[in-house]
This record gives sequence, C-alpha cells and structure tokens, in this order.
Amino acid sequence: MFSTPRGTRDILSDELAVRRRAEGILRETFERYGYREIQTPIFENIELLTAKSGEEILKHLYSFEDKSGRKLALRPELSAPTIRLYVNELRHKSKPRKLYYLENCFRYERPQMGRYREFWQAGVEFIGSTKPEAEAEVIDLAVKCLENLGLSNFSLSIGHLGIIRDILNGYGIEDKMQNHIISLLDKGEVKGIAELPITDSAKEILFQVTEIKGGREKVFKKLGSMLESDSRKALEEFDEILSFMEKFGVKKYKLNLGIARGLDYYTGMVFEIHEKGLGAQNQICGGGSYSLVKLFGGGELPSSGFAFGFDRLMLALAKEKRLPSSDKTPKIFIIPTSKKALQRAIGISKMLREKTSCDLELMGRKLDKSLSYADSEKIPYVVIVKDDSSDDMVILRDMESGDQKTLKIIEVPDAIK
Ligand code: AMP
Repeated sequence: MFSTPRGTRDILSDELAVRRRAEGILRETFERYGYREIQTPIFENIELLTAKSGEEILKHLYSFEDKSGRKLALRPELSAPTIRLYVNELRHKSKPRKLYYLENCFRYERPQMGRYREFWQAGVEFIGSTKPEAEAEVIDLAVKCLENLGLSNFSLSIGHLGIIRDILNGYGIEDKMQNHIISLLDKGEVKGIAELPITDSAKEILFQVTEIKGGREKVFKKLGSMLESDSRKALEEFDEILSFMEKFGVKKYKLNLGIARGLDYYTGMVFEIHEKGLGAQNQICGGGSYSLVKLFGGGELPSSGFAFGFDRLMLALAKEKRLPSSDKTPKIFIIPTSKKALQRAIGISKMLREKTSCDLELMGRKLDKSLSYADSEKIPYVVIVKDDSSDDMVILRDMESGDQKTLKIIEVPDAIK
C-alpha cells in the first residue's frame, strides 16, 4: 500500500462534485465582475518566485533542477505567475486587465487542519488602476464570492500600509528598513521591532498605530490625532476606498492597522478575511493593492487583488452546513437480462445518453445482483431490457418505490423525474 505524499490528499468523487459546484459559483461571480480566467504552468523558474518573495520563500518551495540544470519550483501562489503572464502577453492591451485563476499551489509547510502542502487558490488580479473605486470593487468582489457561496460567519479586516509608511517616512526611515519593519509586523514579531535601530518615539507610534482596531469612525479619529497634517495622504485615500466600498454594499467590516502582509510590493490597502470557528488556520482570504508589474520589467503599474484558500472555503462551507449539493450519480442503470439482450441494451444506452446520464451493466451479472448494485450506488432508475420484448419496449423501475412499468424506450426520459 502506498499513501499520498505528506500534506496532500486524494479527493473522491462525491467531494469533488461539491468542490466543482463551489468552483462554478466562484467562476461565475468573478466573470460577473468582468474578470477573465487564465492558466499558467504548474512550475516556474525559481527566479520569478524569489524576485517576488525574496530568498526566504526558498524554504517553502518544492524546488528542483530539470535535466538541463534549470532551477524550477512548483508554484507556491499565483499572483507572481499572473503578473509574469501580464507583462509577457498583455501589457500592450488596454487597461485595466481583470484576470482570475483557480489552481493548485504547493508549499513546504507543516501540515495541519486547513494547511496542506498541495492546496487550491482562487483569486483575482485587477491590473492597472490606483483608483480607490477599483480597490473598493476588489474587496466587494471578495465579499460577494463568500455571500454567493452561502457563507455568513466570516469577518473582513482592512488595513492600509500607506499609513504605516507615511508614519515611517515622517521619521525619516528609509524604504529598506520600512520593508523590514512591515515584514516583522506581518509575522507578529514585535520583539524584533523593539530591537531595531530606529528612534524610541518611532517605535512607540508604530506600536500604537498597529494596535488600532475597530470601526471606521473610531479608528479615523484616533489616526487623525496621531498623524501630522502633511502625512495624511494615505489616510485620505483609505477614507475614499472605504466610502466607495460601502457604496458597493460592503458594510460589515473592521479596520485593523496591524495587518501587514509581509511582502515589499504591497503598497496601500490590505485586507484579510477570517472564518470564525475554523481554528488556527482560519484565514480564508488575503489581498491588497501592490506594485509588482515594475518588478517584473513591465513599468510602474499599480494593481490589486486577493486569493481565497479554496480548501479553507470548503471547510468553512462544511462548518456552516452550506456545502452546495451536487448529485452526479447517473440517473439510469440499464440491465440486460441475457447476452442477447445486451446487444439491445447497448443501443438503448446510446440513445438514452443523448438525453440523460446513464450507466450500463457490463459485468455480466444476473438481474438481482445488478439491481442490488444499482441500489448500492443510489441510482434512482433502472431500465430492464429483455431479449424477447418487442423492439422498442423496456421495463422502467423506480428504485425508491420499487414500482415498475413497461413503456416505449422513447418515453423513458419523460417518465423519470
Ligand atoms: P497567501 O498567498 O499566503 O496570501 O494565501 C492566500 C490564502 O491561501 C490564505 O488566506 C489561505 O486561505 C490560503 N493558504 C495559504 N497557504 C495555505 C496552505 N498551506 N494550505 C491551505 N490554504 C492555504
């Protein structure tokens, strides 16, 4: 017996059918907002991934060399591949580009409930706008997806790195140190910040600001009193984003200036969505606005986007008892009662498959064994084909009630529910 590699799972048919339904809901929602799906390779040149996420990403990568010595890695996420695709293929097209993906990713992490080494991400990238209304629509889309899936027990938290950067700029802290501070904030390493070579007053205000959480009014009042009037640009932008977002219909949210999302290319608004009751791995979505296109050689082009952890969405749906129903069981099982009847049954299967899903007894089993098989597979109808019946007559059996009737083959599709 061989097991699946650690951190990976087999997905059986019933679960997969439900996942496909949920995927369909996400795809449809993305498309209703004007996004178009893309697909990128499952592995990328390792430089693309380190360019985006730094050398630190290496320890989380499934990396390898191919037979020609190229350094490659399985993708750990999809925004770097999406922006690479944009720069290579779409940068001359009109803007914005609204792209979405729903694919598997791979990270070498310690597996636990809700954290896997192979997992799926569904996400969008809105490429080419700095406008607050664009960022507001991105957040609205994330919330709309969750609502369309039927989830309600989630909480949206929004922060803004521009505000943190404005504060740090006010203290004359250079970009490199700012990036380091933001990555420490993301990891929750307050101790690391305390040890940095920056002034105590900068540290103090940083600690205060990142602790600010709550409703819009309260947070803005606090921030307004803490920020100098010449470093309120990001704050004003944040205010605009929130106003547009409310116009789009997103009213339930909390502000949290402590959200940092580690990587250097996040520039302004950042957000996270958590599902209550999922345990330690309860972040189902992360996103924000960023500037990656330039990093990949495509000129300055601000973008925003988010990614759902699709497996966590499925856990959330199960927890909230909102898994979409999906029955992919064939509607009909055709049972020939003899070898001669099998010839007729094959023709009948061809005809019925034009109209509905149907399976055919191909194991040479007798009628009673075939009936118990159909029963165990929960197939709702059986068509019994005899060799002595006149050419177009069959028996249709309703497996739930046990009722049987003889009818013409062409009447079967209308006779089943
Ligand atoms: P990130 O690219 O790290 O911002 O992740 C985006 C989303 O993907 C997170 O909010 C999680 O829901 C999901 N995610 C990240 N890592 C994993 C993992 N190892 N297993 C399952 N889901 C994950």
